[in-house]
Amino acid sequence: MTITAAYQGIEGAHSDVALASHLGAMGVDHVRTGLGTFRQVATAVIAGRADVGLLPVDNAIAGTVRDGYDLLAQFDLVPICEIEWRMDHRLLAVPGAELSGVREVFAHPLALAECGRFLGTLAGARVIPSVDTGVAARDVAAWGDPARAAIAPPEAAAIYGLVELARNVADHPENYTRFVLFRSPESRPEVQALGGRLPPARRKTSLLFATRHEQGALARCLGSLAEAGINLAKLESRPKLGKAWEYLFYVDIEGDVTEPRIGAALGKLREQTTSLHVIGSYDVGAASLPAGGGEPRCALPPVAAGASEPPALPSSAKNWPKAARTARPGGTRIPIGSVLVGGEDFIVIAGPCSVESREQMMATARRVVAGGAHLLRGGAFKPRTSPYAFQGLGWEGVALLAEAGRAAGVPVVSEVMSPEQVERMAREVDFLQIGARNMQNFDLLKAVGRTDRPVMLKRGLSASLDELLAAAEYVLAEGNPHVALCERGIRTFETATRNTLDLSAVPVLRERTHLPVIVDPSHGVGVRRWIRPLCRAAKAVGAHAIMIEVHPNPPEAKSDAEQALTFDDFEAIMDDLSKIP
Ligand code: PEP
Ligand code: MN
Repeated sequence: MTITAAYQGIEGAHSDVALASHLGAMGVDHVRTGLGTFRQVATAVIAGRADVGLLPVDNAIAGTVRDGYDLLAQFDLVPICEIEWRMDHRLLAVPGAELSGVREVFAHPLALAECGRFLGTLAGARVIPSVDTGVAARDVAAWGDPARAAIAPPEAAAIYGLVELARNVADHPENYTRFVLFRSPESRPEVQALGGRLPPARRKTSLLFATRHEQGALARCLGSLAEAGINLAKLESRPKLGKAWEYLFYVDIEGDVTEPRIGAALGKLREQTTSLHVIGSYDVGAASLPAGGGEPRCALPPVAAGASEPPALPSSAKNWPKAARTARPGGTRIPIGSVLVGGEDFIVIAGPCSVESREQMMATARRVVAGGAHLLRGGAFKPRTSPYAFQGLGWEGVALLAEAGRAAGVPVVSEVMSPEQVERMAREVDFLQIGARNMQNFDLLKAVGRTDRPVMLKRGLSASLDELLAAAEYVLAEGNPHVALCERGIRTFETATRNTLDLSAVPVLRERTHLPVIVDPSHGVGVRRWIRPLCRAAKAVGAHAIMIEVHPNPPEAKSDAEQALTFDDFEAIMDDLSKIP
C-alpha cells in the first residue's frame, strides 16, 4: 500500500524531513506533497486528496501552534500519532562560501528566533525571514551567491546541493517541535491501521475547552481530571476571540478516550465547561513504530563514543539526494512477497547461478527453503565474459524459476539484462536483479525505475560506492522506492580470490543510505570453501541479507561451478548464521 501524505512547506523543510523519517520508520510506503498553508494540509485530507497530513502543534520556543490544534478541531480530523522532532538547524550555503563572508541569512522566522545567539556572532549579517526552511535553502542554492546562507535541516543540503558552514546553530539543543499526523474520519482501513498501535493507557488525548468567566472555573475543570487520576501532559490558554475574559484551554492528557476512567472524567469535565472538543487520542513519540516493530536489524550504533550527531554526508551526496540516509533516516524496508528486506530479519537468498532444468530448480528450491532460505535465485539471462559460454535458458529459465518458487512458497529473483526485457521480467519475477556489468546501464536503470517491482542493484566491478549510490538514484528518481544494494566484490590487484569482497562497503552504505544492503560472498570470493566464513562476516558487519549460489551437483554446474555450494554447505552456513545475533 502506498499512502499520500501532505505537509506544509517544500522539499527539505523540517516538516518534510520529519514526515519522511517517521513514515520511513513505520515502514510505510508513501508519496509526500508539500502545500502552501496549514489549512491546505487539513483540507487536502478532508477532501481525500491526501490520506494523511502533518501539522505542528507545539514548538519548544514558540509554544502552542494554535493553528494546528484549531484545524484538527474545526475539521474533525482524526489524530494518528504524535511526532516529536528535534529541529536540527544548520547554516547552509553554496559550495565555496565561507562563514566570514556571509552577509544575509534566510530562514523561517521561528528558526531565526531559535538561533538568535549564533546569528549575533555573525557580525554584519542581515537576518531575513522566508516562508519555510526548505524555501530558504532552495533560494540560496538558486541565487548561487556565497554571501547568502540559509538556516535549514541537513537534509536540505543534500536536496539543494548546499554545504554546511556551521551546525548546531540553535540556542538550545533540545529544540523540539511536536507534530500530529492525522487522517480524515472516512479514511481507508489501511490508513486507519496506522494508528492505535499502543495500549490505550500509553496514548495521549488532546482537548480544547472553554470555561465561564467565574471564580474557580479552571480549577473545577482540572479537578475533574485530577480526581480520576489523569495526568496532564500540557496546559495552555488563550483569550477567546470576541469574548472578553473567556479563555480557551489547550490540554493534553495521558490516556485514551476509550478507557472508562477517561470517558467518565470527560463527562464531568463537560459539565464544568461552556464547550469541550475532544480532538482525539493518538500514539505518542517514538512508540508509534509499526506493530511488532522496534529497530530495524543492526540499528546503527552511535558512530563515535560521545557523538550525538550522525556524521555529515560527503559533498557527492548532492548526486544522490533520494538515496541519502537523510531522505529516510528510519531506513527503507522492501516488501517482496511476504519477505521484508531491510527489516529486523536477516534474509538469505539462495539458488543456482543459472537455471539449467526443472529438476535442478525443484530440488534446489526444496532444499534451500527447507534449510531456511527466504528467496530463491536463478539466472536465466547470463552476462558471460565469453560469448561461447552458456548464455542461460532465457524465458524458459524464468518460467522454471517462477514455477520452483511457487512450489516452494518463496519469492524469486533473477537478472534482467536489457530494457526490452524489463516489462515481462517484472511480471514473472518478484525481485529484479541488475548485474554488476549493468550497474551503469542507465536506460536499464530507468526502465526498472518505472516498474513497481523491487530492484537489487549489484555493485559494478570497478564502481565506487558513490557511483553505486548515483546508479541507485536513477531507479529512485523514476519513482521506484524499492532498491537494495548488493556488494559482490570488486577488482583489485589481489588474484587469490575471484574478486575482493569489500565488506567495508557495508558500514559505509549503512551510514550514507537508507537502502538495504545485501552481500554476495559467492561472486565476491569465487571459491566454495571461503564463502562460509564470509557469510558469517556479512551478517556480523550489519548487512540486511546475503545472496549465495547453491547447486545440487556443483561440479556439473553450467556456470560458476567453482563457487557453487552443495546442499550440505548451505545447511552449515544456515547453522552458522543462526548463532550470530
Ligand atoms: C549473478 O548473480 O549471477 C551474477 C551474474 O552476478 P554479478 O552481476 O555480480 O557478476
Ligand atoms: Mn554466478
